[in-house]
Amino acid sequence: MNRPIPTRPCWVEISTQALEENLRFLEKLAEPHAEVLAVLKANAYGHGLAICAPAVVRAGGRWLGVNSVEEGAAARTVCPANSDRAPHILVIGGVFTGQGEAVIHHALTPVIWEPWQLDELENAARQTGIAAGSLPVHLEIDTGMSRQGVNPAEVATILARITPASPLRLEAVMTHLFAADETDGRVNAEQLARLDETLNRIELAGQFAEWLNVGSSVALLSGQARTVAGMAARHGMKAMLRPGLALYGVVPRFDPGFGPEFEAAEPEEFVAARQTLRPVLEWKSQVVGVRQVEAGATVGYKGTFVATEPMKLALVAVGYADGLDRKLGNRFSLLVRGQRAPVVGRVSMDQTVIDVTEIEGVKAGDEVVILGAQPSPVPKCEGQGAPDEERITAYDHADATGTIPWEVFTRIGARVERRAVNGRQ
Ligand SMILES: *Cc1c(COP(=O)(O)O)cnc(C)c1O
Repeated sequence: MNRPIPTRPCWVEISTQALEENLRFLEKLAEPHAEVLAVLKANAYGHGLAICAPAVVRAGGRWLGVNSVEEGAAARTVCPANSDRAPHILVIGGVFTGQGEAVIHHALTPVIWEPWQLDELENAARQTGIAAGSLPVHLEIDTGMSRQGVNPAEVATILARITPASPLRLEAVMTHLFAADETDGRVNAEQLARLDETLNRIELAGQFAEWLNVGSSVALLSGQARTVAGMAARHGMKAMLRPGLALYGVVPRFDPGFGPEFEAAEPEEFVAARQTLRPVLEWKSQVVGVRQVEAGATVGYKGTFVATEPMKLALVAVGYADGLDRKLGNRFSLLVRGQRAPVVGRVSMDQTVIDVTEIEGVKAGDEVVILGAQPSPVPKCEGQGAPDEERITAYDHADATGTIPWEVFTRIGARVERRAVNGRQ
């Protein structure tokens, strides 16, 4: 028996069409100012690298970003270096001890900022005997996030290592903007000023990089492509922006906490993005069975839910081991038959119980949507004939559990099968 065992019904559907259209939209936003690097780290934000990386390349993507060398190697197996449209693969999180050889073997482009990372790459280059200047690296500058990157004042030390005889070639200077969505743009401006000053130092050191590589969906959506491209041009460079979340069809909130009065000030790119970008991922399961319980029945571990009347409950094949946050017990709903069914009791490791008392005809095998949409049988606006839809968004999950959509997506468990689908979602 070589056929794979069908998985239990808890899966993710990936619309590669939505992903491709989202990329094209973001590229259009960046044009003519900047190139787009598609961020596919952490298994493509939980969406599945093996499905998403080839889709991005099909849509014309030339740059992919992953976190680690091992993610880069996985991306190379689905986007081979010797293929027609082989993309550059940037290893955003840097290289670790013993990984230099794999960087060269898989033709990856590492981000560097620590001297020991240069040691690792130089040693591997010496062992494989590659030519001078044949290993491109992106030098990250810490412009204020204090996370990774070299302090601007110390950039000369790193540059001194990248001589014409070195196997390394400085292909890009990179930084991450961490507050591109703030209201007055002060932090952002400070970061960009530090970046500009660092580019001056690099020029003074007689070095040149082709690309200026700057971060994130928010940076792109808040119109930073123009600013970054302007700076790049002043230094004879080209600009590159790195959207992640927006690629998956979720528009980050513009400075959350400011409320409706701030929405007017939202940059026009955000508004356009909200109208155009489509969610790529839907997370689904099925009803395993339906049971009728009497008033007084308890549900789940510790009986945290007690039926106050006779109820109809459905068991769903999803639990916290699949990534459904345990905090959602007794305080969230899932969709079945286009209607919201409250989660009752605690979320178990592998199972969840929902209240379907008010929903007609629920039976074993019915689709349950954990994140995504179902057509609703109840039109939401009077006079509109077409059935509306009910939708649970990544922000709904995030708001209910005190986190952000990035974490909601990346928490979806490895055992949840990722399936490529193409229809509109
Ligand atoms: C994750 C990441 C991005 C993408 O950020 P989004 O907010 O998801 O668009 C860009 N650059 C770096 C360095 C990152 O780590």
